[in-house]
Amino acid sequence: MKLTVIGYWGGFPAPESATSCYLLEKDDFTLMIDAGSGALSRLQKYKNVLDLDALILSHYHHDHVADIGVLQYAWLVQSYVVGNKDILPVYAHTEDKEGFEKLTHEFTEGVPYDPSATLEIGPFSITFLKTKHPVPCYGMRITDGDSVLVYTADTSYQEEWIEFSKEADLLITDCNFYAEQDGSQAGHMTSIDGATIATQANVKDLLLSHLPQYGDTKDLVVQASTIFKGEIYLAEEGLTWQKK
Ligand code: ZN
Repeated sequence: MKLTVIGYWGGFPAPESATSCYLLEKDDFTLMIDAGSGALSRLQKYKNVLDLDALILSHYHHDHVADIGVLQYAWLVQSYVVGNKDILPVYAHTEDKEGFEKLTHEFTEGVPYDPSATLEIGPFSITFLKTKHPVPCYGMRITDGDSVLVYTADTSYQEEWIEFSKEADLLITDCNFYAEQDGSQAGHMTSIDGATIATQANVKDLLLSHLPQYGDTKDLVVQASTIFKGEIYLAEEGLTWQKK
C-alpha cells in the first residue's frame, strides 16, 4: 500500500496547504483518511475526486472534517458533468450524532464503524484505539496483509499506543508540539512523545504530522531523533511512503 500526505497542519491550514488528510492506495482502491481544511483543493493535484473509493474519519474537529461539505458538492457537480451515480461511503464513529448525520448527502453516505471490531474497507483491515482528546477520536491500525500503518490521529500521550503500534512499518503521529512544550492539556503530543512510542513499539518508520504553525518544524525531527533511531519523516504535501 502507498500513503500520500495531502494535508498535515494542526488547527488551520498555512497558505497553499491543508490540515489533516491522507490517501492510502492499494491496487485500484483509494481510501482517504480525514478531510481537513484545504484538503479538497490539494487532493486534486494527485487524484480526481471521483476516484476516491471511501473516506474514513478519526473525529469531528474542523481541521479533520472541514472539507466534507465541499467534497459532497464536488460529487454532486460531477454527477451532472460526467453522470456519476456512485455514492461515496464515509466511515465514522457515531459518538457525535450531529456530526455523523452531516456525512450523508446525495452522493455520500455516513457509515458507522464499531471501534471495538475490525473494519474491512476494500483491501484494508482496520482496528481502532480511542485517543486522549477533548472529543471522541479514534486512531487506526491499518494493514493490507503486507504492511502495517498506524495513525494516531489527535491524541495526547497514552501508554496504550505502544501495544497498538507494535512492529508497525509506519507510525504517523500527532506532533503538534515541540519537545519543551506540554501538549497533554490540548490533547496533542510532542516530538518526544511520538518518538517514545515509535521506539518502544519498535516501528520501522516515523512520520511526524499535525504540525504546529510556529517555530521551525525541522526541529521536531531533530528532537525525535534523540530518541528514535529509525527513519523519521516530516509531513509535507505530496510526500509518499511505501514499505521498503
Ligand atoms: Zn482534534
